[in-house]
Amino acid sequence: MSEKRDYYEVLGLSKGASEEEIKKAYRKMAKKYHPDINKEPGAEEKFKEINEAYEVLSDPQKKATYDQFGHAGMDGAGFGGFSQGGDFSGFGGFEDIFGSFFGGGFGGSSNRRANTGPRKGNDRFMQMRINFMDAIFGKTETINIDVDEQCKECNGTGAYSASDIHTCSRCNGSGYVTTQSRTMFGVVQQQTVCPECNGTGKKISRKCSKCGGRGYEHKRVKLDIKIPAGIQSGQQVRVAGKGERGINGGPNGDLYIEILVTPHKVFQREGYDISISVPVSAIDATLGCKVDVPTVYGDVSLTIPAGTQHGTKFRLKGKGVKSPRGTQGDEYVEVRVEIPTKLSHEEKELYERIRNKKGYESPFDRFKRAFRS
Ligand SMILES: [Zn+2]
Ligand SMILES: [Zn+2]
Repeated sequence: MSEKRDYYEVLGLSKGASEEEIKKAYRKMAKKYHPDINKEPGAEEKFKEINEAYEVLSDPQKKATYDQFGHAGMDGAGFGGFSQGGDFSGFGGFEDIFGSFFGGGFGGSSNRRANTGPRKGNDRFMQMRINFMDAIFGKTETINIDVDEQCKECNGTGAYSASDIHTCSRCNGSGYVTTQSRTMFGVVQQQTVCPECNGTGKKISRKCSKCGGRGYEHKRVKLDIKIPAGIQSGQQVRVAGKGERGINGGPNGDLYIEILVTPHKVFQREGYDISISVPVSAIDATLGCKVDVPTVYGDVSLTIPAGTQHGTKFRLKGKGVKSPRGTQGDEYVEVRVEIPTKLSHEEKELYERIRNKKGYESPFDRFKRAFRS
């Protein structure tokens, strides 16, 4: 491995950053480089680097050692269960990264203290692209997804019956064991997951016959995702219970689908309003005309009054997007006056007749007259 980067630098922080700043920077970076989202080459490496930096900087003891000795202090053999990449299970999952992002109160699964009770699984995150009109009118999209469903036979315990569940004798049910190791910094005490029960705190004497003791069944399920009418690009649809499987018989996490709306060729959307720009000839703008303007509900007749200027906006009330709360946006029509670049012989003559008419004063003539006086 090449020269290791400074952990603060990895998270874009300066030395002396507060706990809160470290946490914030980590969330931001990990979200950006999470391999489920970022498919660019090198993103996964970056993600590992970020997690490694965070694992050290978020732990007061490791942080103190790192602040004093740098990477040299970290590479010592037997130093506190320090993973060099690869396995992030148990920390830094989606729940941690997106917990605050989604505003969910998940309650510290990143906390490594013994917690052998049932816990909710991590949330999952995916993106779905839909077209402009579907975002306005709503749609049901069917997806296939792999989900671990709790085994109904054993309610996720993995045991044949309740009497087959016993407290782990190695860790006395805490799920963690304390070990001591001698390092160059003295004796370091550390808590590690109990190898006997893998942190569950329980031993099962007879396994559930349906799931083979796993407590869950892996299934490919078809989900009808209801995308509500009026949804905006970047908003999320939550599907309860379709996230990652729960821990120790806890409920599954949730699935969050971020909706990305493909832009339309003609319509532009801002919130619940729609805007469109329509070309009008110089003659029609001068004399006035009627145009059938496209809206998402079909064409609507609009009167362009005589003397309409380039860039004038007209409002078609209620022709915007209906919001999920029931309010209705408007459509704004911007007039784009087009000056002809090619004229037929006859057209040119007609224009010249106007110009050569006695008493004709151009806007520029008027401007100069006002300027002189
Ligand atoms: Zn144990
Ligand atoms: Zn089972």
